Amino acid sequence: MTATQPSVLYPKFYRDFSCIGPECEHDCCQNWRITIDRKTYKAYKKSKDPVLKEITEKQMGRPRNQTDNDYRRIVLKEDGSCPLQNQDGTCYIHCNHGPKMLSRTCQTYPRSITRLVDRMEPSLTLSCPEAARKILLDPSAMMFDTGDALPANLPFTAVGAVPKQFDIIRQTAFQSVLGEKDSLDERLFNLGVFFNLIASRQQNDQDLSLVCQEFSKMQQSGQLRQVWQQLTPGVKGQAWVLKKLVTENSFYRTNKVMREYHKSFVEKLKQDFGTDTEIDIPALLTERQPHLQSLIDDCGHGLVNLMLHWLYSSDICRRTSDDLLHGYAEFVLKYMIIRFYLLMLADTDDHKALLIGVIHSIARSADHNNTYLKSLREKVADMGWGSHSQIMSLLKPVNAG
Ligand code: SF4
Repeated sequence: MTATQPSVLYPKFYRDFSCIGPECEHDCCQNWRITIDRKTYKAYKKSKDPVLKEITEKQMGRPRNQTDNDYRRIVLKEDGSCPLQNQDGTCYIHCNHGPKMLSRTCQTYPRSITRLVDRMEPSLTLSCPEAARKILLDPSAMMFDTGDALPANLPFTAVGAVPKQFDIIRQTAFQSVLGEKDSLDERLFNLGVFFNLIASRQQNDQDLSLVCQEFSKMQQSGQLRQVWQQLTPGVKGQAWVLKKLVTENSFYRTNKVMREYHKSFVEKLKQDFGTDTEIDIPALLTERQPHLQSLIDDCGHGLVNLMLHWLYSSDICRRTSDDLLHGYAEFVLKYMIIRFYLLMLADTDDHKALLIGVIHSIARSADHNNTYLKSLREKVADMGWGSHSQIMSLLKPVNAG
C-alpha cells in the first residue's frame, strides 16, 4: 500500500517564475545572511577542491544559535558579496560542483513550501526581484490551480496542526482585501476588523464560519465603509513612523538597493518638508498624494497582490488571539514603510520599476530579519500606539473620505 500523495496548490506566480541569473539587478549572493546547513558544510569540509576548502575553513562563521539548517554562515566580502560568487555573477559551487552541492538555502531560494496536513503550498519570497515581478505585476498572479507533485528533493516546512476552519478564514481574509470600490488603505483596515473579530471569538470558542459570514455581511452592507469614514486618522503615529524611517539606518545599512532609495527619500523630504522638526503629515500627504495616486492607477493591483501574497504565504491565517493581531500590526507597519517610500518617490515615469525595487528591497531588509518588524511594533506600542484600533488608525490618511 502506498501513502496518499498530498495535493499541490499552485499559485500562478510560482509556475511563471524562473531565476534570471546574471541578468538579475539585485542577486541573492550579496547583502544578507547566507546560511549553510550541516550536511552541506560537512560535504564542503571533505571536498578536495582547494578553493572551496579554504573558503569553508576561513569564511564560514558559526551562528550563535546554531541549528541543522543554520549551521554556518558565509562571511561576506567587504562589498557585501559572497566569496563564492564568480566575477561574471555566477556561483562557483554551481559551476564547478553542480546544483546538488549547493546548500539548502541556495538550492531553494526564493522558493518556500509549506505542507498543511494533506496539501502542499509552494510560494516565492518577495525579496527576489524577479519573483516580485511575477507576484506583483501580473493581475492574475494570485490565481490558483491544483497540479502535479513537486520535485521530491525540495525541502518543505510541515505544519503540524492547522486550526479549525482555516480554509474559510483565509478565504474570507482574501475577500476582505478584494473590495474593488475600497481604497488600498481601506482594504487593509477591513482585514484588521476581520482579524479582530476572529481573535475575540476564538477565545469564546465560537463557530468561526459564522464569524466569517457576519463579516461578509458587514462588508457587503456598507457598514464597514461607515466605520472607516468615521475613523480618526492616527496622524501622530504616522509622523512617528516616518521620523523613525528617516533617523534609523538599520533598515538599509546592508542593502545597497534600499540605500539608494533611502537617499532620494530623505533628500526629497528635507527639500520639501524639513526633517529637523516634526514632519507636517497633512501637508506631505496633500502634496505627494497625486504622485502616489498616479502610481496606484498604473499598477495598484501590485499592492493588492502584496496583501494576498502575505495572506497566502505567511502563517498569519493560522495564528490566534494576540499573536494574530501582532502579525497584522507588523504587516501594517511594513505596508506603511512601503507607502511612505512610494509616496516620496512616485514622481517617476517608471512606476512598475519603482514598485518592484521598493517592495523587493524592503522585503529583503524586513522579511529576512526576524526581529525588525517585531521591534518596530514594540516601539510603536511604547509610544502609546499599540492597541489594535490605534494600529488601524495609522492606515487612514488625513485627507481620506
Ligand atoms: S534574486 Fe532571484 S532572480 Fe536574482 S539571482 Fe537570486 S533567485 Fe535569481
